[in-house]
Amino acid sequence: MMLHHTARILDGQETSKALLEKVRLDVEGLIGPKPKLVAVLVGENPASEIYVARKMKVAEKIGVASDLHRFPADIGEAELIDHIHRLNDDIMVNAILVQLPLPRHIDSLKVLDTVSVHKDVDGFHPVNLGRLLMGIEPPAMPCTPAGIIQLLDAYKINVDGMRAAVVGRSNIVGKPIALMLTHRNATVTICHSRTSNLDDILRDADLIVAAAGQQGLVKAEAIKPEAVVIDVGINRLEDGKIVGDVDFESARHRAGFITPVPKGVGPMTIAMLMVNTVRLYKAQHGQPIENLLFI
Ligand code: NDP
Repeated sequence: MMLHHTARILDGQETSKALLEKVRLDVEGLIGPKPKLVAVLVGENPASEIYVARKMKVAEKIGVASDLHRFPADIGEAELIDHIHRLNDDIMVNAILVQLPLPRHIDSLKVLDTVSVHKDVDGFHPVNLGRLLMGIEPPAMPCTPAGIIQLLDAYKINVDGMRAAVVGRSNIVGKPIALMLTHRNATVTICHSRTSNLDDILRDADLIVAAAGQQGLVKAEAIKPEAVVIDVGINRLEDGKIVGDVDFESARHRAGFITPVPKGVGPMTIAMLMVNTVRLYKAQHGQPIENLLFI
């Protein structure tokens, strides 16, 4: 009988549990009011509803106070911005999350810029992204990329010297993970929809981060044997099943390590949101915070 090679699974579910337990203990040890996270949800996007509910549930589990502020889809941009100013001024609120996407009549960048740099739990504020670019670790970093780094660290995967291919160049995943990997001494190629010969770039990569939102984009044949494959994509099939951007079933016989979808990057993202909430709280209270990334 021929034995098939199978990749080691990078288990985001288990790793996030361990990370959250650390955060829970950290929260338990804080003196004074508990850290508080406020999520702002506009409209009734079903996926957003699920994500926000999940975040609130995890917050509750680890002793982080949370509130959900809902607004109708037709709220005006000025009114939403006013509300965010009020949250910025509320000393009981430590962390503000604006669930994306926002309705089309609202300028998301303008809204994200309004969130105080000190309460920017998603790390999307231009100042926080700028710090990341400069190699100065901000208190809160984009959750998905920072979660990926935490997952790699948990499995002791050292990216130093690796060739990495990041598929996707968004401000929330592709660009920040490329910066983080560069900082960790990987040599990174950022790919996007205008990249020619994507598969050639992938085949050369020791580490692939797939964050395009395209089912089946990364096929086993384009994966270098034993490569580390991180699948960020979330694609909902007609039957309701969720799959990533990587063809998992075939890729797992080729990669060295691979994240499943679900239970890979997703839970790490939520865990990082909690890490960020506590880090912001500490920064606001003049308490020291450890570096997570730039170590
Ligand atoms: P965006 O839609 O903002 O960006 C997608 C990127 O992928 C773009 O840069 C785009 O290129 C590129 N792209 C699209 N199609 C191709 C292609 N065929 N070949 C190469 N590149 C391509 O998405 P996000 O960054 O916000 O999210 C990416 C995916 O990750 C989505 O599926 C999203 O649902 C998921 N996600 C998962 C999270 C989690 O917690 N697991 C968190 C955040 C996102 P171009 O710039 O040229 O248009």
